[in-house]
Amino acid sequence: MTIGGSSYDDGWWTPSTGSLFPSTHGEGGGGADTPSLFAPVDGEGASLGRNRPVLGRAGWRATDLSRFPRLGWAIVTCMDSRVDTTELFGGIGHGDAHVIRNAGGVVTDDTVRSLAISQRLGRTSSIFLVHHTDCALTTITDREFADQLARETGSRPAWNAEAFTDGDWAVRRSMEKVEASPFIPRKHAIRGFVYDVTSGDLREVRRRPVAHAPRGR
Ligand code: ZN
Repeated sequence: MTIGGSSYDDGWWTPSTGSLFPSTHGEGGGGADTPSLFAPVDGEGASLGRNRPVLGRAGWRATDLSRFPRLGWAIVTCMDSRVDTTELFGGIGHGDAHVIRNAGGVVTDDTVRSLAISQRLGRTSSIFLVHHTDCALTTITDREFADQLARETGSRPAWNAEAFTDGDWAVRRSMEKVEASPFIPRKHAIRGFVYDVTSGDLREVRRRPVAHAPRGR
């Protein structure tokens, strides 16, 4: 079907204008007929399948990108929506790096799995571990979170939330976990950072703090 000049078929919206977000005002705007990104297609009672975001193919384009990231980088970071991985390190482009995300950007067994595959099958060699300020994992403790889940569900998780209180500590812990893993072959280029979600600054964290560093040298 066609809405506001755009084709709309089986839940996928293909814009005629190239804009992902159709204007709701002015010429070409669909007004009440304009599909909302997340609104039910058929209003109340629409099934989940038909209620999916109609992002789809609007920005899709064919590429000849390799399976191997162009920069040879694997970036591990938090799933926090404020961490824009396309802006990290001066801008990561399409096809440049593997990006592995989870709650906290911590190095879990599954992160090691992804890094092992990234290096062995994706030919990456540099690992960037990026934690950030104001992370949700600084607001809980592993025990509190597990207790809460156990209370509410009757089951205690086999995993830890991997909470932390200090970003620098979390970065160093992540570096140590990567270095300790026998499954990650290339460890010559492991670097850690804390991303400031307010300023957008990326600060590198030294592997070990240098106490009493000489000045003026
Ligand atoms: Zn976070």
